[in-house]
Amino acid sequence: MTDIWQRTLLDLQAKVSAHNFDTWFQKIRFHHQEDLTVFLEVKDDFLKAWIEDNYVDLIEESLFCVTNTRLAVVIDVQGAFDESNQVEDTVFDLDEAPVAARMARLLDDGSQGSLFPLSDGQGQATSAEFPDGARITGPTRHEDLQRRIQEAGLNPRYTFEEYVVGPSNQFTHAACAAVASNPGKSYNPVFIFGGVGLGKTHLLQAVGIEILRNDPNARVISMSAENFMNQLITSLRNKDMNSFRMQFRNNCDVLLIDDIQFIGGKDSTQEEFFHTFNALHQAGKQIVVTSDRPPKSLPGIEDRLASRFAWGLLADIQPPEIETRLAILEKKAEADGINLTKEVGMLLASSIRSNVRELEGTLIRLGAQALLLGSPLTIDFARQMLKRMHVEQGQKISAEQIIRIVAEHFDLKSADIKGARRTRNISVPRQLAMYLARKHTPDSFPELGRTFGGKDHTTVLAACRKIEELVADEDPEIVTSLDELEALLVH
Ligand code: ADP
Ligand code: MG
Repeated sequence: MTDIWQRTLLDLQAKVSAHNFDTWFQKIRFHHQEDLTVFLEVKDDFLKAWIEDNYVDLIEESLFCVTNTRLAVVIDVQGAFDESNQVEDTVFDLDEAPVAARMARLLDDGSQGSLFPLSDGQGQATSAEFPDGARITGPTRHEDLQRRIQEAGLNPRYTFEEYVVGPSNQFTHAACAAVASNPGKSYNPVFIFGGVGLGKTHLLQAVGIEILRNDPNARVISMSAENFMNQLITSLRNKDMNSFRMQFRNNCDVLLIDDIQFIGGKDSTQEEFFHTFNALHQAGKQIVVTSDRPPKSLPGIEDRLASRFAWGLLADIQPPEIETRLAILEKKAEADGINLTKEVGMLLASSIRSNVRELEGTLIRLGAQALLLGSPLTIDFARQMLKRMHVEQGQKISAEQIIRIVAEHFDLKSADIKGARRTRNISVPRQLAMYLARKHTPDSFPELGRTFGGKDHTTVLAACRKIEELVADEDPEIVTSLDELEALLVH
């Protein structure tokens, strides 16, 4: 496991800035692992609190990248685990306790999306109805569901509630929602395909979580195709194919396989998967598969398997549109407690276009940097950070272009905006153009004065102040115009 921790650190190093890495991650020591929980130690309470509040998810994410298993992280100060280990066994399921506590905290502040979206308070109950009907004191219903989600190989964050729906993913989202509420009965299999970082894994896991919420006894197995292969190899080596087959063919109601393209060209894995697929499909069990391309374009996948993938529903995910990208950013910002202004949101959404994972990662890095430096996440700060991260900034719109767009929008000519006439039908668009130019370009007030037909910089400054005031007063005409114009600027 220490080896795994080293690899996790390397993964983290690639995800955070060098400064951040040195400040927070290098000081973490691996202590031990029990089942699905990894116990980590830090030097003092401050580090513990900071890492718990800011980085546990990131660490879990990296552990997942390295191990392909959903591991929960528990952090404490040096020595704390040594003490608590001595009372092990006397407490109900000690493993689960810290994880459950953390989950409960997450639920309390409501920031990570609840496992009980329609919670009626039952989630906090202290005793649980178990499959056999016996009520035992111990894990809450929430803890029980949490455990099942983890055991099924699912990430509790990947829920439908956390998924932003837009034209690019609407169809696939609807298919997944249908399957989740009626597994095995609507579309079978569902084959989700699309490019990297577009939310395939998220949707796949949302299906599993939703099914478990509806029926905690459903036997859900979620894993990558690679993991399927690894388990197969282990079972072959241990001459234990019977239990492998029992697990996948007999003891499974819902099979969620991620990144099926991986088994292309791996003949015995494909063979085994083919039979697993047939057994489950015949028994009316739900199968959902993701892939980076449609079935018939999968290299090294036999026709008989590819054609089965097409039996049910083929659902693709496209890169999200700007509005969806913005909505995703807003959702993630809220979940992570990042104060994201519309301006910065626009800058990010227009700079990072194709990959939601990158979009999300960049937001989190910006949020972390701002927090670390104690500075608000302003547009200037964001621009600077993007530059340092070598992210090409999409919003390279010039003041000239803004003048043209504003003029067209109000049925005027650029020359009117640049001119000196002060009738209201021209002066308001001019002020709006100045305000937008200041906001969306790096130009200074004097530079803008020159671009706007050789005006004094104080004129531009006054226009910006005026519009800012009107925005603050929520002037309906100004707010609507700005919304419409900004949508034109970032497309
Ligand atoms: P893929 O499996 O297609 O490579 P993931 O499902 O791993 O992509 O998504 C990458 C990241 O982007 C995840 O953190 C996921 O939560 C997020 N994400 C992708 N699409 C959306 C969406 N529509 N709404 C919210 N988050 C999304
Ligand atoms: Mg994926």
